[in-house]
Amino acid sequence: MTDSKRDYSRREFLKTTGAAGAGLLAASAFPGTLAAQAPDRVPNRPFGKTGVQVAILSLGGMFDIPNNQLLMRQALKWGVTYWDTANSYEGGNSELGIGKYFARYPEDRKLVFLVTKSTAWTVKGMSDHLDLSLERMQTDHVDLFFVHAIRNISSMDKDRQRWGEKAKADGKIRLFGFSTHSNMEECLLGAAELGWIDGIMMTYNYRLMQTDRMRRAVDACARAGIGLTAMKTQGGGQVLTGSAEELKLGGRFLQSGYTEGQAKLKAVWENPQIASICSQMPTMALLAQNTAAALNRTKLSADERNALENHALAGASGYCAGCTDICEGALPAAVPVGRVMRYLMYCRSYGSREFARRRFNALPAETRILMGRLDYTAAEARCPQKMPIGRLMREAAADLA
Ligand code: SF4
Repeated sequence: MTDSKRDYSRREFLKTTGAAGAGLLAASAFPGTLAAQAPDRVPNRPFGKTGVQVAILSLGGMFDIPNNQLLMRQALKWGVTYWDTANSYEGGNSELGIGKYFARYPEDRKLVFLVTKSTAWTVKGMSDHLDLSLERMQTDHVDLFFVHAIRNISSMDKDRQRWGEKAKADGKIRLFGFSTHSNMEECLLGAAELGWIDGIMMTYNYRLMQTDRMRRAVDACARAGIGLTAMKTQGGGQVLTGSAEELKLGGRFLQSGYTEGQAKLKAVWENPQIASICSQMPTMALLAQNTAAALNRTKLSADERNALENHALAGASGYCAGCTDICEGALPAAVPVGRVMRYLMYCRSYGSREFARRRFNALPAETRILMGRLDYTAAEARCPQKMPIGRLMREAAADLA
């Protein structure tokens, strides 16, 4: 949610519900003040058929953990015991921050379901990354290790299967799987066939969960006993229309006692096939808001679910669904459309402009130049979301460079 939308939502809410609504908003932001029947700590769910229970809210580690140690402490107090990081996050500082925390509170390691990831292309590289991750985090094992950001299930080949089995036998990892934000449905369907994937983290939100393809993919993984963690659950898009309808959506949920962002989390949790939601929560306020949503047992009404579904349909052409095989395969030259769409989302929906610029400028210079000049007509014709790909790639080339 952008700041302007948050401000608008709050104004609309106060206009329609007055001081009582303001009190409700304050209550929903702090877990201890929720409805009397709510539990004190974020509940757990089974992680597929692994036999492991995980907190339904996971702390994403793409932020300055070394300087936010109190936030980690508070997360554990509220039951946010599933921590997610990656070898690459914050140039290694995310893992170092977790290590700093465990050095100070070694007894807390037993409470945490700890996940890290590697983007290494080789199994040797994965071994090196894993050893470095363990050293940085001052632990002898991680609970789940992901091959990071795969685009095709062929990445999970026999070599990686053997690597995972050995790392488990060596006691360095308990569970093994992958994360994906490209071609998620195909990756999930393929994983369900493999028989040795323990867990997956994938882009999943109130937009994507409406499609038959995603429903089939999630069903297949649930039947195969694979634990699923949803990420990018706010469904932030690349084109922000700022329409009155879009802005009023937030006010609608506040009348029920939760924010638009909390409603989007609830929509995902209402699918019991999803074990957990991974959310970047770099501030205590956001941690409190998301924890409140996890503690709140009120279900979305049919009207609220319809509102989200209609919002998803109306804004389809402003949201990239990550089906990169479709558009990138239609381009006359290699441009990572899906990745650049993500960077635009970080900039425009998350408000993380500097982070988006850093990621964008890590692309090869020739790719960035090519991006602004390429003909995207064929890709746009194939895009199921009908996105203005050419316009967005040119905007990214101009705005993020
Ligand atoms: S631009 Fe369109 S085709 Fe390409 S990944 Fe996004 S939604 Fe899919």
